[in-house]
Amino acid sequence: MSKIRVYELAKMLEISNKDLLTMLEDLGIDAKTHMSSIDNDAAQLVEETIRKKEAKQPPKTQKEETKVKEKQTIRVREAATVKEVAQVIDVPVAEAVKALLDLGIMAPAGAQVDETILIALGEAYGIDFEYEEPEEEKVATGRPVFHGKHMEPRPPIVTVMGHVDHGKTTLLDYIRQTNITAREAGGITQHIGASTVTYEGKNIVFLDTPGHEAFTAMRARGAQATDIAILVVAADDGLMPQTKEAINHARAAGVPIVVAVNKIDKPAARPDRVRQQLSDVGLVPEEWGGDSIMVDVSAKTGEGIPHLLEMVLLVAEMEELRADPTVTPEGIVIEANLDKGKGPVATVIVQQGTLRKGDIILLDTTWGKIRAMLDSRGRQFLKAGPSTPVEILGLTSVPQPGEHFVRVDNEKSARDEISKREQEKRESENVTAKRLTLEELYSQL
Ligand code: GDP
Ligand code: MG
Repeated sequence: MSKIRVYELAKMLEISNKDLLTMLEDLGIDAKTHMSSIDNDAAQLVEETIRKKEAKQPPKTQKEETKVKEKQTIRVREAATVKEVAQVIDVPVAEAVKALLDLGIMAPAGAQVDETILIALGEAYGIDFEYEEPEEEKVATGRPVFHGKHMEPRPPIVTVMGHVDHGKTTLLDYIRQTNITAREAGGITQHIGASTVTYEGKNIVFLDTPGHEAFTAMRARGAQATDIAILVVAADDGLMPQTKEAINHARAAGVPIVVAVNKIDKPAARPDRVRQQLSDVGLVPEEWGGDSIMVDVSAKTGEGIPHLLEMVLLVAEMEELRADPTVTPEGIVIEANLDKGKGPVATVIVQQGTLRKGDIILLDTTWGKIRAMLDSRGRQFLKAGPSTPVEILGLTSVPQPGEHFVRVDNEKSARDEISKREQEKRESENVTAKRLTLEELYSQL
């Protein structure tokens, strides 16, 4: 018998997961979370129940119907995605995507709304859209939005954030151990900056460096690798300054947060107090009617971690993360260093296209011809598609984390581009130097 996941059904029926779960419970259908599977005839039963309910309800009043149809002006931030705009105007995102499609525009939920999309959405819903003045906190996320012809789902890239000692490293270790080392006999993972974990046949990429420093450093370069943040909060300690900072960073970057309420094995753990504290700063748990996913876990015993990974995959599905593996490969540097034996070594994450051994790549400050690609188990790769972290060998010097890379046609164009940039940099330094001298001169007059 074929089955359907609760969240898929919720999406189809355009109701919230929470409402659907309540309805399932009322109907006596067993489903614990949005990731639970239910039989198709159970799904049909739900559909019928909703239809009957709707039939009983009085028809919508004129006012309700025209709620979004009145010509009103709505401001959206410059880097807003289709999904965000849909939320602002209270339209299901799938419907907005379809409305765009009907107007001949292919834009996934995660696509940034450009002029064309905004005008189209405005037409579809009778709204005058305007771009907000960009504010400090609301600058473009830096998350690449690609519009390839062959968009395919890609694994989410996850950063673990939270206050010191709340268990970020322990959680990462637990997740990686159970999913990589244990499964691959003798497979010792080495730190390369990011690693891929497989859960229920689906991949999740974890950035190795927990905390928001790395996250912020990358964003400072205009790069954003993270799709989802796991916010670790120790249940025996609660909301702390760095918890709030992490929340702010994730929000500023427009990255969805999944909360891991950690250390629930401890007698002093008070997970409900954590939920209360988080609610006070605007993260209201789903079970309390909000839209924040919170999972009780113990990074020590492993309790709750499968559920946490399920929730990460759920959010990934909702975010509709996609990339085109057929276009020119591009991505960003996560980490880099100089290895005595291997020379410059960099871990990069491919964001679109497929990177291959032998490719020539141009970065912000350097270039190279890929001599080898390795994963965190030291396995060699000949090619790496979207959301694949790989350690690459063959760069001519060590790049900075957050640098962008793109494949170019030949060594000469890469070399020429880098010397041009170096020349420009020298010239601008000269200009600054001259100005300083002039200023010094004036100050001496
Ligand atoms: P980080 O600073 O956030 O990376 O925190 P760590 O992972 O280093 O953890 C800080 C301390 O908390 C260590 O002593 C861990 O063993 C301990 N710890 C982490 N998670 C748990 C947990 O779920 N239960 C218990 N009892 N201790 C934990
Ligand atoms: Mg740590």
